[in-house]
Amino acid sequence: MTGNTKYFDHHVHTGHSRCVKVPYTLEAAVDRALARGFVEGFGSTNHVHFNSPDQSHLPVTRREIDEINAKRGKPFILLGAEVDVDHPSGRFTLTKQSLDLLDYVIAGPHNQPHRTLAMEDMGNEEYGEYFEALEAIIVNSLSKNPVDVWVHPFLQEIEIGGEYFADYLFPILDKVLPVLRDKGIAMEISSTFPRDKNDSVKVFGPGPRVEGWLQVARMTSRVYKAALDFGGVKFSFASDAHAVENVGDIGAPIAIARWLGIPGSRIVHIADLQGKHR
Ligand SMILES: [Zn+2]
Ligand SMILES: [Zn+2]
Repeated sequence: MTGNTKYFDHHVHTGHSRCVKVPYTLEAAVDRALARGFVEGFGSTNHVHFNSPDQSHLPVTRREIDEINAKRGKPFILLGAEVDVDHPSGRFTLTKQSLDLLDYVIAGPHNQPHRTLAMEDMGNEEYGEYFEALEAIIVNSLSKNPVDVWVHPFLQEIEIGGEYFADYLFPILDKVLPVLRDKGIAMEISSTFPRDKNDSVKVFGPGPRVEGWLQVARMTSRVYKAALDFGGVKFSFASDAHAVENVGDIGAPIAIARWLGIPGSRIVHIADLQGKHR
């Protein structure tokens, strides 16, 4: 990775996401992203979940994005969607109509009952059931559907347990990596871990903030490193912004990629994701 290379932020929540508290315009977002100097553009990826399956915001955002890109004479914004996957069968919620509007699709589990993992009466049998379902959900959803990026790998489980579930998660990763490689699905390196997950490791109780963060940092680094060593898997940077000030905030993912020695040829850029489904 050279000094003047710019990178794509493939994961931004804009005005149509319920999780965005203060709505902002795409114009403001692209100005914020480009002002950083190291960002080549971003993708608007609002949620499409089974519990909020509305996809009517997509044609509206598509028109807005096309107008802005035409006005600026270059595609700085892409349209994606962040799809929740939640079922061992790999069921998928995006309609064909929606897919035709999108440049690309990002997906991962969001609504697993991960809080049960921190309950007192949990044992190996219950953990086993949880992670068996998680493996089926990720492997089947990614292998059966048009997904381009696997978002925030194991976010819920790392958030709740730090390194505690490593022995369950890495065997799952072994099953996911061939799917990523064979289907050309990139692994997300996400700002969401260093930004706001640093005091939420629950299994050991609240504990000192720094120990929670170190566990998260070690786990996520091991996940990215395993993908790098496996070979043939690409990586993509994400701010997972929910506010305009975080759009293009991919400094942490870029630093992590440098520290791990991920070559520039393995990083996804805007041109790789533009029009993948159109
Ligand atoms: Zn997400
Ligand atoms: Zn997100």
